[in-house]
Amino acid sequence: MIKENKTEMTDEEVKHNVSKAGHPKGLYMLFMVEMWERFNYYGMRALLVYFMTSAVIGFTDPVAFKIYAWFTALVYFTPVIGGWLADNYIGKRHSITIGAILMAVGQFTLASYGFLPAKAALFIGLALIVIGNGFFKPNISTIVGELYEPNDPRRDSGFTIFYMGINIGAFFAPFITGYVGEVTATSPSWVQWRWGFMAAGIGMVISLVWYLVEQNRFLGHIGLYPVTKHKTKEAAEEDKPLTPEDWDKIKAICTFTFIAVFFFAFFEQAGSSLSKFAQTSIYLPTFHLPAWLGSLTLQVKASWFQSINPIAVVILAPLFAKMWIKLGSMGKEPAIPLKFAMGVFLTGFGFLVLAIGSSFLPAQGQISMYWLIALYVIHTCGELCLSPVGLSMITKLAPIKFVSLFMGVWLSSSFVGNLMGGYFATLSVKLQNLSVFFAIPAAILMIFGFLVWAFSRQILRWMHGVR
Ligand code: GLN
Repeated sequence: MIKENKTEMTDEEVKHNVSKAGHPKGLYMLFMVEMWERFNYYGMRALLVYFMTSAVIGFTDPVAFKIYAWFTALVYFTPVIGGWLADNYIGKRHSITIGAILMAVGQFTLASYGFLPAKAALFIGLALIVIGNGFFKPNISTIVGELYEPNDPRRDSGFTIFYMGINIGAFFAPFITGYVGEVTATSPSWVQWRWGFMAAGIGMVISLVWYLVEQNRFLGHIGLYPVTKHKTKEAAEEDKPLTPEDWDKIKAICTFTFIAVFFFAFFEQAGSSLSKFAQTSIYLPTFHLPAWLGSLTLQVKASWFQSINPIAVVILAPLFAKMWIKLGSMGKEPAIPLKFAMGVFLTGFGFLVLAIGSSFLPAQGQISMYWLIALYVIHTCGELCLSPVGLSMITKLAPIKFVSLFMGVWLSSSFVGNLMGGYFATLSVKLQNLSVFFAIPAAILMIFGFLVWAFSRQILRWMHGVR
């Protein structure tokens, strides 16, 4: 039973308890919780393929890649179920707790090979993480939206800041789990993985404890109950059947989710065809640092390119957050369909840059790393126009009683996208000419971005005044 604590802040007080930067303080608490949760997810993900192909598990590369593709896709499918359960029965806040516990247990299960048969530890651990993420991810995202009034102009900016937390966790995690692996490298090899997964699991526990300790102080009663079970006047309003306007907004949500499938299918090439490209076709220079920096020589490694996107998000997200607010105050903030069109177009443009760069491959064998860096930075700008805006969009458009369900629907764009992207990546092996391979997403996304722009008026009509 949930007891009402009268000393807690009301929902209004929570929303008006703002930091110097002008956002509700609850945003920063959710930022930390999500940062540590993503640390847990990305820290484990960085080890997963190596673990599956190591002597402990002993899968071949193709089997490990297939399991990896399905795992990274399924973590974005379960949020549909987790969102629905939260909306109808559990409430967002308890769902987050359940999800966090399941994911922590999942990590410790991965670390328990030797005590459990190794493959059992692997599959049970991954299944717990897939289910746990279903409870966690849609609900923490919708609670961010509840910190703002329906037409609050700070909402997109708030989600962009939240997205920065996601990427700080994503950036540091592989270094820490990788480092833990390295310092235990003198131990028998089967011990290293255990400590990597333990480090990820400890990150999840930090997230859980942070959440449990701080939630009442910063969230009051926000997200505690399923809307329809919370017998307030507002909830009674929400209990009514969906109106034609609600259905229009749902059409808009489905359209945005459909657009995002294409975005994620190609954006997620980062982990497959593009990381392979970094290994085979990019000239990896060695830098000689000056004496005052220890005269070190620094050999650039292909795996470092994976960190460009999260670093770029951390650097660019505050600029985008400020830009949306500034444009908003001048009445010039682009509406969501235009932000989506820009996101898709920019991602296509990033591929165009690399297609041009790759056209020098036949003559040069390898091309400068700056081509790939340019792609990642351009892709990050596209991501910031689309991904955090998508989270924010759901909290503006979905009927309140189904908001977490629709957050799950939005996240499922990454489920379909990851699977489609996985199949597309195999083309890079079949197509000899990489310039042509990169020109395909360039053409598809730039044309698609243009179409989204062309249809933006229709989509806006479905949004009934939401921008
Ligand atoms: N990289 C972001 C995250 O891990 C985006 C995920 C998504 O929406 N597909 O949260």
